[in-house]
Amino acid sequence: MGQGIDPAELEAWDDQFVWHPFTPHSVYRSEEPLMIVAGEGNYLIDARGRRYLDGVSSIWCNTFGHRRAEIDAAVTAQLGRIAHATFLGNASAPGVVLAKRLVEITPKSLTRVFYSDNGSTAVEIALKMALQYWQLRGKPGRKRFVGLGNAYNGDTVGAVSVGGIDAFHERFRPLLFDVLRAPSPYAYRCGLCAGHDACIGSCTDALETTLKAHADEIAAVVLEPGFQGAGGIITLPEGYVRRVREVTERLGILLILDEVAVGMGRSGRMFACEREGVEPDFLCIAKGLTGGYLPLAATLATDEVFDAFLGAPEEARTFFHGHTYTGNALGCAAALATLDIFEKDEVIAGLAAKITALRAALRPLAGHPNVGEVRQYGLAAGVELVADRATRASFPAAARIGMKVCHAARDKGVFLRPLGDTVVLMPPLSITGDQLATLGDAVLHGLQTVLP
Ligand code: PMP
Repeated sequence: MGQGIDPAELEAWDDQFVWHPFTPHSVYRSEEPLMIVAGEGNYLIDARGRRYLDGVSSIWCNTFGHRRAEIDAAVTAQLGRIAHATFLGNASAPGVVLAKRLVEITPKSLTRVFYSDNGSTAVEIALKMALQYWQLRGKPGRKRFVGLGNAYNGDTVGAVSVGGIDAFHERFRPLLFDVLRAPSPYAYRCGLCAGHDACIGSCTDALETTLKAHADEIAAVVLEPGFQGAGGIITLPEGYVRRVREVTERLGILLILDEVAVGMGRSGRMFACEREGVEPDFLCIAKGLTGGYLPLAATLATDEVFDAFLGAPEEARTFFHGHTYTGNALGCAAALATLDIFEKDEVIAGLAAKITALRAALRPLAGHPNVGEVRQYGLAAGVELVADRATRASFPAAARIGMKVCHAARDKGVFLRPLGDTVVLMPPLSITGDQLATLGDAVLHGLQTVLP
């Protein structure tokens, strides 16, 4: 296995040569990271031949399992033609065909596709386009962005600026631009609706107040519709996104929807914005776009935005942004095969039953005394663990409870990766009912092992 290299040697080289993302290296080896050498369907296979159900779809991107025959074949066929040719001032065929298909399946406001390599850059591009759009429309004063608390839109500097998770973002403050911050719709830890038994939408009111107060300075609102993923699968209340769209439209503010995590079927629809009939000005997609195979992202924009960038070259209305691998042919071929599978297998129609099965698999978890809240949106769930259910007090970070629970779930052949003390379930859309039950059992086993 593992390029023919002994597992212990691979681990030694990993310890010696590699710097892993979002990883405290002081505890990395002691937390027994997986060394993956292969995959098969919804399973990962490690260097010692052990198999794990991929409960987080390789960080939320794998759509139809690993080594899906049709995607393998599409990428192989594309390799037989060309792996990559530049998209800068030129075209390569798979990217053109994919753009047409993406415009066909996204809300009708979106008519243009701009490619990049990952979710962060998809957001970064939307921010830069929005800023330049207002300059080109003669309103350069509209240059501020609005983001929510607990938002996560990626790791590049613009995406970090609009992000709202202190643990990830605060350290970089000196690099970041100032953003208007609206409250996170985090019902479980929300102080805004104090005095009421249930949410009365005070966070939405607060966002509207901010938008009205600064309307003339705001370029765009950036929002993860459906759920705030890295914030801990914080689910947005029904109607939230529609209301933001109504208010932004009324005030002439652009709306950037970040569907990097929730798009491509995760919500139970192709895109979460369909649920509330919202048509954004920008839509950012990545992760599942290639079925989880290759780094490809897209920022979709409207005609109104695209047209603002038209003019003679010397007018410099051009959007000066583009990456070497923009429109990569292998990635686009994988994405086209992914869209074919969505159609051929009627994937979206099959999701309702899986979403119900996930709900059933989660039900036993709610009874555990350290489960504060179980949140589900489509085929995604977050199980927030607390030291004390009554006070909702968190565990000390040093206890690494979420990590330990996920590690213990491996006894049941399941691989999970938490967000702090929120255990995340984000399986491939190809997961079966039985496998969903296994996921639920594995988390319960993890809880009972770590927090007996
Ligand atoms: N936006 C959202 C909502 C995400 O969840 C993520 C990644 N988890 C990103 C953007 C960034 O995507 P990437 O990691 O591909 O840069």
